[in-house]
Amino acid sequence: MIRWWRRRTLRFRLAVWYGLGGTLLMACFSAAIYTFVARRMARPLDHALRRDLTEIETHLSVGPGRQLLWNGQPIQTTARWRHPWLEVWDGDRNLVARLWPLKDAQLDTLPFAPPRGRENLSIFSVTSDLRLRALSVPMTVPGAPSDWTLRVLRVHQRLDDPLGTLALIMAVALPIVVSLLVIGGYAITRRWLSPLDEMARDAEEITAKDLSRRLTVENPNDELGRLATVFNRTLGRLEDSFAALDRFVADASHELRTPLTTLRTVGEVGLRRSRSVQEYREIIGSMLEEAQRLQFLVERLLELATAEGGHQPVRREPVRIDQLVSGCVGELAILAEAKSQHLAVDAIECVAQTDPVLFRQALQNLIDNAIKYSPVGGEIRVSVNALDGRISVSVIDSGVGIPQEQQERITDRFFRAGDTRSRRRGGFGLGLAITRAYMQVLGGTLDFHPGHPRGSRFTLTIDVAA
Ligand code: ADP
Repeated sequence: MIRWWRRRTLRFRLAVWYGLGGTLLMACFSAAIYTFVARRMARPLDHALRRDLTEIETHLSVGPGRQLLWNGQPIQTTARWRHPWLEVWDGDRNLVARLWPLKDAQLDTLPFAPPRGRENLSIFSVTSDLRLRALSVPMTVPGAPSDWTLRVLRVHQRLDDPLGTLALIMAVALPIVVSLLVIGGYAITRRWLSPLDEMARDAEEITAKDLSRRLTVENPNDELGRLATVFNRTLGRLEDSFAALDRFVADASHELRTPLTTLRTVGEVGLRRSRSVQEYREIIGSMLEEAQRLQFLVERLLELATAEGGHQPVRREPVRIDQLVSGCVGELAILAEAKSQHLAVDAIECVAQTDPVLFRQALQNLIDNAIKYSPVGGEIRVSVNALDGRISVSVIDSGVGIPQEQQERITDRFFRAGDTRSRRRGGFGLGLAITRAYMQVLGGTLDFHPGHPRGSRFTLTIDVAA
């Protein structure tokens, strides 16, 4: 049953729920109206019964031998009864007397014994078209072991007709209203959910090969429109990721192909004729150099993939950024010295909650670039500043700078600006992409500004507290 139910369409299930809910509500509503009207109509009769009761209690008493007295006189049961109708039942629920002008023989049923010990209002029929309303109360009789019951009776006004009509109207109206509810509910849900069918059709046609398609958004303000918009945005991001992946695979294979081809060519040329030991040494040396580049490239690619894929473990701790910068500059000073460059640090004492390994790696890439792309004898300055809960580390050089039209793309992977595309300088165009990815992992930023009057300024910024 549950499986059958689950296989039904959403609009079918909604219509059924709607119908069931409607039926229940209508039934409760009808019952409430019926009870309310019935009580309202019976109220004057109940008042009259209470008046009768007061009168009876004033005049009626029980004499010796269970004899009923009216105004102290024994009641003549044979005479026509002209006072309020009543019954007296003893403690064992036996009838002591029934005083009314009706002839028992003409009645279909006689009233049954009332419940004992508490006030009770009830209705019962004595013939097919005569109903009585009865009010029974406990009655204390001197000498009796338990309370008797006094029941006052009156003809129930002919409420049956209007109440019966009301019940009939409700009984007929209920299925009609419920059917209308179900049909209306089905039509409305069908109408409102129709964009879902269209979305399902559109979505089915979208494949990894064709991520440029989008779902139709009929009304961007309703839930379905918002769902389609969110889905479209996700598709957009997927499309970007797929495109980036395609670019990455194309770039990576292109970059890997060059050293592999060089490796093979050097080997093949070396084997073409027999050579001296010295020549073989040189050939193997150059092949090893190429293999080393290849290994470096693969390592960098892995580093980037780890950082960009969100798999980079981050271990934050309080880090003295000024000390980290000085240490990093000290390590790379030898490279600057080799080019007779002047590498200076200008740092204030500051601490940030960050991962020292990743931050150091990011900074190292920047200083390495500054050395690489600055001329012999150039000036490189690394400065540390703290402002508004953020720490920024800038690497400023007086090197070749980056042409304006290429500045936007410098953090793209495998991008190499200007004439630095030559492999002579040794870069793969991955350093800044890795730096940016690390900064993202650390919740920081990497910014580039052209230097004055020339050169570049790269800035890493992180929050003091993680
Ligand atoms: P690479 O390994 O080639 O240096 P990067 O991602 O670190 O790769 O840098 C990308 C490109 O940005 C470099 O090839 C270079 O053209 C340019 N670049 C990076 N840093 C500097 C700099 N300090 N001065 C001039 N150009 C730079």
